[in-house]
Amino acid sequence: MIHIKNLHKHFGESHVLRGISCDIKPKEVVCVIGPSGSGKSTFLRCMNGLESVSEGTVEVNGFAIHNPQTDINKLRESVGMVFQRFNLFPHMTVLDNLTMAPVNLKGMKRTEAVALAENLLAKVGLIDKRDAWPSSLSGGQQQRVAIARALAMNPSIMLFDEPTSALDPELVGDVLQVMKTLATEGMTMVIVTHEMGFAREVADRVIFIDQGVIQEEGPPQQIFTAPANPRTAAFLSKVL
Ligand code: ADP
Ligand code: MG
Repeated sequence: MIHIKNLHKHFGESHVLRGISCDIKPKEVVCVIGPSGSGKSTFLRCMNGLESVSEGTVEVNGFAIHNPQTDINKLRESVGMVFQRFNLFPHMTVLDNLTMAPVNLKGMKRTEAVALAENLLAKVGLIDKRDAWPSSLSGGQQQRVAIARALAMNPSIMLFDEPTSALDPELVGDVLQVMKTLATEGMTMVIVTHEMGFAREVADRVIFIDQGVIQEEGPPQQIFTAPANPRTAAFLSKVL
């Protein structure tokens, strides 16, 4: 579903991704871990065309992202992304946040979009917040709305960039629970996270990135209990 070959990314003089190759299968749940500044966000952003590709190839859901001719907006309709900050539209109710893209981008009938939105709000446990303003919700609730909003486009892949890092600790669990449910339902997911317990429990594969390269990858069992690369071991000893 995702094929990345020899991906390099430069920002001016700085060489941030230095030859990343990685294939991700349908329904796979991949957690990306690594130190701050190692290129995790850039890697994820390259997967939905938020960053241009300096060198190499990135194919996501059949779209060649490295090719300037590719219709990136079309690609993004099938790839949901959730960021650290919730990015809800502040001037729209929760319901309108969910119906906007399906109605405006997909031409879905409003009644249909409302029914879909209500289903998704129920799924993330927030149907009672249907008519609330984003600012009246806790960070964890906003993040669950952001996930529901991404799901409203019926994506084949969901990308998460530290979705719980900005949350108060007591709000993290509900968001992780929603992500866990998605994983169980077979959503293809790439998740940058510092939640090692979650990665251990939910990931099919863990990728450790440091200095713009994949230093090590494997099933969580292996990465967390018997890392082969001393860099992985050193990183884990700081965060576990
Ligand atoms: P991580 O998510 O692992 O913390 P990032 O991918 O955000 O790392 O950043 C990797 C490196 O790329 C950092 O040194 C960061 O400063 C740099 N970087 C990221 N985005 C930009 C940008 N738009 N312009 C210049 N440098 C950037
Ligand atoms: Mg980041």
